[in-house]
Amino acid sequence: MERSLCTLAAVIFLGGFFDAALTDNTTTEINSLSNNNTTTTTTTAESVTVQPQDHSRDRPTPTAAQRKLPTAAGRDKQLDTKNISQDSEEEESNNKEEETDDSKKEAKKTELDCPPLGLESLRVDDSQIQASSYQRTGLGPHRGRLNIQSGIEDGDLYDGAWCAEYKDQHQWLEVDAMHLTLFTGVILQGRNSIWSWDWVLTYKVQLSNDSVTWTACMNGTKEAIFEGNQNPETPVLGLLPVPTVARFIRINPQTWYSNGTICLRAEILGCHVDDPTDIYSSEQEPGSKDALDFRQHNYKEMRKLMKSVTEECPDITRIYTIGKSYMGLKLYVMEISDNPGKHELGEPEFRYVAGMHGNEALGRELVLNLMQYLCREYKKGNQRIVRLVTETRIHLLPSMNPDGYEEAYKKGSELAGWADGRHSFEGIDLNHNFPDLNNIMWDAQETAADKSKVSNHYIPIPEYYTQEDAMVAPETRAVISWMQDIPFVLSANLHGGELVVTYPFDCTRDWAPQEDTPTADDAFFRWLATVYASTNLAMSNPHRRLCHYEDFQAYNNIINGGAWHTVPGSMNDFSYMHTNCFEVTVELSCDKFPHVSELPIEWENNKESLLVYMEQVHRGIKGVIRDKLTKQGIVNAVIKVEDHDHDIRSATDGDYWRLLNPGEYKVVVWAEGYFPSVRHCRVGMEPHPTICDFTLTKTPIQRLKEIRAKGGKIPQDLQLRLRALRFRKLRASTKAINQRRMSERVKQARKARSA
Ligand SMILES: [Zn+2]
Repeated sequence: MERSLCTLAAVIFLGGFFDAALTDNTTTEINSLSNNNTTTTTTTAESVTVQPQDHSRDRPTPTAAQRKLPTAAGRDKQLDTKNISQDSEEEESNNKEEETDDSKKEAKKTELDCPPLGLESLRVDDSQIQASSYQRTGLGPHRGRLNIQSGIEDGDLYDGAWCAEYKDQHQWLEVDAMHLTLFTGVILQGRNSIWSWDWVLTYKVQLSNDSVTWTACMNGTKEAIFEGNQNPETPVLGLLPVPTVARFIRINPQTWYSNGTICLRAEILGCHVDDPTDIYSSEQEPGSKDALDFRQHNYKEMRKLMKSVTEECPDITRIYTIGKSYMGLKLYVMEISDNPGKHELGEPEFRYVAGMHGNEALGRELVLNLMQYLCREYKKGNQRIVRLVTETRIHLLPSMNPDGYEEAYKKGSELAGWADGRHSFEGIDLNHNFPDLNNIMWDAQETAADKSKVSNHYIPIPEYYTQEDAMVAPETRAVISWMQDIPFVLSANLHGGELVVTYPFDCTRDWAPQEDTPTADDAFFRWLATVYASTNLAMSNPHRRLCHYEDFQAYNNIINGGAWHTVPGSMNDFSYMHTNCFEVTVELSCDKFPHVSELPIEWENNKESLLVYMEQVHRGIKGVIRDKLTKQGIVNAVIKVEDHDHDIRSATDGDYWRLLNPGEYKVVVWAEGYFPSVRHCRVGMEPHPTICDFTLTKTPIQRLKEIRAKGGKIPQDLQLRLRALRFRKLRASTKAINQRRMSERVKQARKARSA
């Protein structure tokens, strides 16, 4: 809706610039306009209110029935590895009309929308923002940026808005666009604070070419009054009745929340206008040389893009699904490997997971960009990519929380606010939804007589978590099941809203809100985090300002998760405690949902990091553990590295990967029924792993046991059996939940039909 308004306004202003066909748009909320008001001064007495164009407040939360996809229900499978083409065609035929409609709208949108100047993305520098007055430095004009976050306390240098010193109608926040700009709109938000409630109810807008003479923004013959906010958090868009070319823009509050004062966060929408007299005007917009599909992809568009990548590169790609969201959207994974669909002996498995917080949308787009990029560069014969794809099995999950993303996407990158779409449809924060295995291990260590006897890895999922009524999201269940099926070695979990890489543990000991909580692999995790952070162009830029209120540059843009803030039940901790996989969290950008115009720059910021991080899966030692007699691989052998209190286990074929920094290591391998084997393995500086194979000899007792077993008794490692059992239980309860939900839907449908 707000898009078409902008369309109309731009058409009127630019006259013949745009295709006349667009004027059949019948939006009537704007009166007939003239652009002949450049001489009007701010002293115009009469004023007319411009209605806010934000519809997020009055849009009811869709019910489950409204949002249900036609073919999503009823075919729940835990690991549906069916090719995408089949089922997407079914769905596509249902939605074909809707889809062409969508793409038409999309085309119009990108053609005519003016992007944000970048108060939120920090593209607009602090020096470009001025104000009539401000209460103190922490509430200065540079804090008047959309979605900026304050610290816990008020009163420090980093509060959550610009706040004027005086409560009168002469206060303003001014932005210098640095170039002639076609201003089209203002987005306003109140102050971010736990303690203070402040927002602006109505405001005027003034424009200037020199910041001396100001012109009021008019609505016909009257000065326009814009509707501002009704609460501190919801961003509200105000479109200028007549888009106007100028260099400077002022937001001039008129009324504000009665118990508060004049505080606001803002974004300005405007298109760069070519100006031959401006020497900076011809500056090239920063972008990317890679011709990738840079736009926000909703669920259908994401699926389409993934499908197009498999069509472009059928030999190295495969799409599979690992489950479904609560609303029935599939969790699609793109596999990229020289032998898709197969685990090859000794080849490590890597994954990127994006979008577990649905509104942190950049990761999703970067992962989609990465698919396209890997496919094309592989075809071109880019040696680095060919090597990566040949030696690694890469899995890319662009959207772990598609329901949340769709919610944020509907509001759009500027109006989704800071939290809309973060949680799953059921309201679950997926990054707190994994079983907390840390405390189970720590408790066991505390009560154990001999600490070294307590398992330091493969901690089983606790009983309570596998119950059918446990608050476990289907998205979480799907990812756990995926983690248990594939012997992942390395992963990163892509988030947004900050610029920092965090590494486990995320959960602190003894429930401390904030405390450095290192794992036994702290050195390697710090290396991993550093690899990403130091190659990321945004993070490593020494001139960048901090995103919100925390200065991660002081720590080279990496931090232990617990040292930032404790997160019990995080995906990273679970991955490390329950499987062999090492995982870090990347906070990709200050802005959780960057505007489409930022996507090429963000790709450039992250391209090298995404590649070099994947290459880290080829570090440390790897090898195959075999039975000396039969030469068969031994599954579930335990690989212990001396002085590293975290073991890992071999995969089905006996292959293993142990990530380690350069150094000399004493490695002990042990498996049930075998004599342990010891080797010294050296890891060098070169970017490939040291091969350390082991052959194990069966113990006589084991042989005896096996002979006896032929008579009917089957000895088993109790711990492993327990793990398998619980896993099976979790799957069974997932299935039961899905069946129950299905039958409820059928019942509801019947009821609806009979009513
Ligand atoms: Zn997040």
